[in-house]
Amino acid sequence: MVRDFIHLFYPRICPSCGDALRSHERVICLTCRLSLPQTGFHLQSDNPISRLFWGRIPIHSATAMYFFRKSGYVQELLHQLKYGKQPDIGIELGRWYGNDLLQSTEYRNTELILPVPLHPRKQLQRGYNQSEMFSRGLSETMACPCSTDVLVKQSETETQTRKSRFRRWENVREVFAIPQPEAIHNKRILLVDDVITTGATIEACARMLFQHGASTVRVASIAAPVF
Ligand SMILES: [Zn+2]
Repeated sequence: MVRDFIHLFYPRICPSCGDALRSHERVICLTCRLSLPQTGFHLQSDNPISRLFWGRIPIHSATAMYFFRKSGYVQELLHQLKYGKQPDIGIELGRWYGNDLLQSTEYRNTELILPVPLHPRKQLQRGYNQSEMFSRGLSETMACPCSTDVLVKQSETETQTRKSRFRRWENVREVFAIPQPEAIHNKRILLVDDVITTGATIEACARMLFQHGASTVRVASIAAPVF
């Protein structure tokens, strides 16, 4: 009752539709939870996100939780997660999607979850890495470890000074690093990002993972554009 009373004056807001949350609703309102456009890609090994990587890198399977449309509810949700200082959104979405992934033979046997790292400076500005929050939720329901020390982003100043423009572009693709390769050796990895558009970031990370001995790499994201 006290909680309801407090919420009368400081209502918690659904980050997707902006309506006030009811006391039993966690982070996102039930209406949004039921109406957000799920892709179902975790149950289809041949889907538009997997196809993004064909001929580029041997990623086993790739999926996204939601379809992303400009100025839609999913975009609003992602905006609040990224810039609204609401890491709970990512954790809650991850918990939900973890349950979905457990239904899939492709993802069920994951051994290690790795979020795509943010540049340390950016993470300091935002306070957290949104992909890590999503990973934490996945880790919880999938009962699978998640690490942020295995795949890291190197300091840009370290790699980009004294380089020509061309070399600099080349280096943007190479800023990811794996300081402890033994942690991924022969492991089935789930690589996690917030949004997949061109797949370039995932490709760069996956390349590093394969180079350092990962057994398989699968990919999960919160959203992907409507293809
Ligand atoms: Zn809502």
